Amino acid sequence: MRSQNTFTTLYLSAPDVIDLVRRKGIEACLRGIADNIHADFLRWQAFDKSARVASHSRDGVIELMPIADGETYAFKYVNGHPRNTRLGLSTVMAFGVLADVATGAPLLLSELTLTTALRTAAMSAVAARALARPCARTMALIGNGAQSEFQALAFHHLLGIDTLRLFDTDPAATAKLQANLQGGGLRTVACASAAEAVRGADIVTTVTADKTNATILTPDMLAPGMHINAVGGDCPGKTELHADVLRQAQVFVEYAPQTRIEGDIQQLPSDFAVTELWEVLAGRLPGRGSDAQVTVFDSVGFALEDFSALRFMRHAAAELGVGQPIELIPELSDPKNLFGVLHARGPLLRAAA
Ligand code: NAD
Repeated sequence: MRSQNTFTTLYLSAPDVIDLVRRKGIEACLRGIADNIHADFLRWQAFDKSARVASHSRDGVIELMPIADGETYAFKYVNGHPRNTRLGLSTVMAFGVLADVATGAPLLLSELTLTTALRTAAMSAVAARALARPCARTMALIGNGAQSEFQALAFHHLLGIDTLRLFDTDPAATAKLQANLQGGGLRTVACASAAEAVRGADIVTTVTADKTNATILTPDMLAPGMHINAVGGDCPGKTELHADVLRQAQVFVEYAPQTRIEGDIQQLPSDFAVTELWEVLAGRLPGRGSDAQVTVFDSVGFALEDFSALRFMRHAAAELGVGQPIELIPELSDPKNLFGVLHARGPLLRAAA
């Protein structure tokens, strides 16, 4: 948005995004973001891509995720601190920016905590639409925290999942998920273990948070034709799948250079064969090889998904009149006279007495 000699930036706060999602509807948001992700993955070569920059500490990680095409630049700031919920804070918190490549002007500054949950679920559904068997109706959902309702609803609306088999080491998290999903058209079954949840499931989503090499899924739990949507293993030293699950499956990833560092495949040699999902979506490589094959989407979260989600939010905000223009960059009548804005309310420098 141009105003005089500067740009105003649109600010979308968390309350703005809550308003936007409620007015558009969560199904429309999930579908819209999934459509943008799919379309942007088909333009894979147009993007300047890099693995995200991670700053690790004892209890978590803070990451910066940049990406750009010729017109638009995006970045996300995001953390991952599995112990945060004990302090009353979210495990994952995020915000981000869309900017104009031609001038560098920031166009949108947005919350991305809710938007990350929406885009992660939309990404999972885009991958599963390409990889899971079309007859899939039952999903095991292991890890019933902040991301879980979004995953459940994306698989319900975009893939036709009608039954969820739930497990979390914290039974209160499962009860919260069941309460939140009431009236949403999904049948939920609380299970006593991950092994019980997986029994009879066509799709298994693991979305747990623990800074450890966990083995939520072991090879004995696999059934022919299963699709595994592994979301929670997304950081060095933080995995969810037993390495033999990966060895027995065909593994699909977002951006291999990043997933080899952060994904469940960090447990395997650097030449372990994986397929980047964009090649399947573009029809360049096959997806699932047979009805009996086990497929794994080793999700870590790639900057392009945030680019797609920010595009969706900017468009929806304009459509609904949501958000506030903010003066993030000083407005100048002479762009070379930055110092002048400090003088605008009276002289700044005074002669020494
Ligand atoms: P959260 O802390 O709100 O929920 C995690 C849940 O996992 C908790 O309820 C916890 O009790 C449960 N859990 C931990 N260990 C478990 C185990 N062994 N078995 C069963 N349940 C277990 O976190 P969240 O925001 O829902 O995020 C979940 C995970 O997803 C995190 O690891 C996060 O880093 C990851 N994540 C990945 C992406 C991506 O794009 N791949 C995006 C967002 C979040």
